[in-house]
Amino acid sequence: MTAKRSLTRSAALAFGLAVPLLAGFAAMAGLSRCGNFTLDDPPGNSSISRRVYVNDEAVNDSLKPDLIRKGVKFVLQPGRSYEFSVDNSARASDKLKVYYFDSGTPKAFKTLTAVNAGSREVFSFASDLSTAQFFMAQLTAPEGTAAIASLPHVSLSSSAALVSDTLHVRLLFIRKLANFPDSASKGTFAKSLFQQMASVYAPFGIVLVGTYEIVEPQAPAVDFPFGSTFISLPGARIRNNAHLYLVDKISIADPASGLVGEVLGFAPREVVDLDNHRESRVILSARVSDPLSLAITATHELGHFFGLRHTVSTRHDILQDDDASNEEDGFADTKFCALDIALAKQAAVIAGGPSSPYCLRIADNSCSRSNGCDLQNLMHPVDCGTRNQVTLTTSQVTFLKKNLGSYRH
Ligand SMILES: [Zn+2]
Repeated sequence: MTAKRSLTRSAALAFGLAVPLLAGFAAMAGLSRCGNFTLDDPPGNSSISRRVYVNDEAVNDSLKPDLIRKGVKFVLQPGRSYEFSVDNSARASDKLKVYYFDSGTPKAFKTLTAVNAGSREVFSFASDLSTAQFFMAQLTAPEGTAAIASLPHVSLSSSAALVSDTLHVRLLFIRKLANFPDSASKGTFAKSLFQQMASVYAPFGIVLVGTYEIVEPQAPAVDFPFGSTFISLPGARIRNNAHLYLVDKISIADPASGLVGEVLGFAPREVVDLDNHRESRVILSARVSDPLSLAITATHELGHFFGLRHTVSTRHDILQDDDASNEEDGFADTKFCALDIALAKQAAVIAGGPSSPYCLRIADNSCSRSNGCDLQNLMHPVDCGTRNQVTLTTSQVTFLKKNLGSYRH
């Protein structure tokens, strides 16, 4: 309960930092959330719990034992080339057994042999399956589990040649929206939102192309229950577009979860595919009708959508990974900082609840004491309500463009 009270205080303080537009929402705590969904992970394989994210630079100490013992899972895009590697200048005789999933059961896909290059043991391969999907890999070492100690870092990288600079987004206005009652207001807002998002992306060399659709405008407003269960939404998917679903409100589905406040938006980290997979989407709340505020939330969530971590992990992010080594994103040019203790406490409460697999972006009093944080970074976990949290470092931009390029578009 102590932690819950501290959340209430920091949420109240956040109102002082929030833009005046938010002041009218007495119930709004200024929260946005993001995180890993189950993403239709292969069923029946819960023992394969560790996921390798493409081009992820975090420490990921938890990966190496599972790589040998149980296997680690990851998503590959069709036709793309990847390198699976472990840091070790001497190893070259291991085998990497790669499996795909058939109705949740691992089936042999390829067995790869290694080369040692650049002090790494590297396994090169591509997916020649027709869709983006989960795979699993297990390292077979001559010395068995004794090899774990000699695998300091496990990573999966996509080809550096895949760099894209255009992102198509499809905004879906879902059913009745109190802030956008007619097609004219929706059209005006869509145009402004796309302009603001384009302004955020422009310094990174990413061109945003936005289109929108009004979906069932007379149907009752959607109060989207934020939780672990997949909830379908109406609206057509468009090939080669990332989809933003704007609903009237997002609410905490389970009051006993420890989550407090109103969710502004959320997305999974590294979606399965760009446009078709049912959970590969961003959900946004239309309760904030300021285009710049929503544009920052949308681009932050799209950062997760394409695999970016927070610059510094919240306690909850660490628990979500179940990997204490992942204190930060691993990029050399982002700042690590000590997050406010209230955030850590709040995350600890949430971790104890049934809706734990989510990370947080919360308006918090750590914004008033910078603690060495880069408060203007788009992927900083704390939403300071300043509407200037739009920067990315060179490493983050390189990552974002590489991962964007790996998705079909
Ligand atoms: Zn986030």
